[in-house]
Amino acid sequence: MIRVGINGYGTIGKRVADAVRAQPDMAVVGVAKTRPNHEAQTAIRNGFDLYAAIEERKPRFGEAGIKLAGDVDELVDASDVVVDACPSGVGAQNADMYREHDTPALLQGGESADVVDSSFNARANYDTVEGDDLVRVVSCNTTGLSRLVAPLRERYGIEKVRATLVRRGGDPAQTGRGPINDILPNPVSLPSHHGPDVNTIFPELAIDTLGLKVPATLMHTHSVNVTLESEPAAAEVRALLADERRTFVIPEWLGIDGAGAIKELAQDAGRPRADVWENCIWGESISMEGRDLYLFQAIHQESDVVPENVDAIRAVLGTTSQAESVATTDEAMGLDEPLA
Ligand code: NAD
Repeated sequence: MIRVGINGYGTIGKRVADAVRAQPDMAVVGVAKTRPNHEAQTAIRNGFDLYAAIEERKPRFGEAGIKLAGDVDELVDASDVVVDACPSGVGAQNADMYREHDTPALLQGGESADVVDSSFNARANYDTVEGDDLVRVVSCNTTGLSRLVAPLRERYGIEKVRATLVRRGGDPAQTGRGPINDILPNPVSLPSHHGPDVNTIFPELAIDTLGLKVPATLMHTHSVNVTLESEPAAAEVRALLADERRTFVIPEWLGIDGAGAIKELAQDAGRPRADVWENCIWGESISMEGRDLYLFQAIHQESDVVPENVDAIRAVLGTTSQAESVATTDEAMGLDEPLA
């Protein structure tokens, strides 16, 4: 069994902990928290050992009646690999601790690509990270774009990608985020940093991105234009994307008009936390104009990176092939059960 520690038990960390625990070849050693809050309570309810991330705050756990299993150092030491799901920037600060313990660590998309040895997407570059000390599982948006680019590039070749990312202002529990009544070009300067981030996965890809932020919490929506090197029929592209494991081509008859309906579908399907791990691409939006492909896709920011973290664990340790890992991850999580 691969022993996995989770440092940072928030939106991403708690989902990764559950997904890792579901795997036949992995066990969760424990999770590290900075303070005793509702997420610490969730960790205990779910039976995870809790480790203190910050020495000085340890007494606060005792005051809340929470028993600790140890310090984060001990968690790192007892783990074959750590998934660091701390807030942006904290993962980079933790890098020295992982190196001191000689424990490989997976950082998340909020970290700069400069602090890691490699960036990861299971569909695109699984085989390139084995043996690395620090691997970054790219952001929700970069994961969503990479899953789309990989099959298109392999089948048709890509001349240029242009994508407008309409991003949710914050996650549902992030009460301090916004905007609450506006539509923000964000960043205002063009192109946005998202394109270069996709280049950490596909270095040679020509891609320009634009970003906006809107008063929504459920999902991001991407408006995508890809100039291909050949001219397939739209139906052919639709079939290609429908065949991919982590892209769901939404059939028109479902009558899905937005992120609210997608989340409702996921909830009704019994998905944990109403998570939508796959890209949701509107089937009827997949259109060809000459060599230009157009489509809309929705990305569930809280969960699309979760199966990618599970695969990155096997990839960095070199325990299985890409095909085997992705199949195992999907089956264990229930991602092999299509949303419809
Ligand atoms: P979050 O704020 O929901 O969770 C972070 C957790 O880490 C919190 O529980 C916080 O208390 C804890 N923490 C803070 N400092 C810590 C420390 N020093 N040691 C241990 N734990 C600490 O954040 P999140 O949304 O889960 O994001 C985590 C990472 O994943 C970031 O890099 C983010 O950019 C990335 N990411 C987030 C999303 C998303 O939409 N939420 C999507 C993809 C990637």
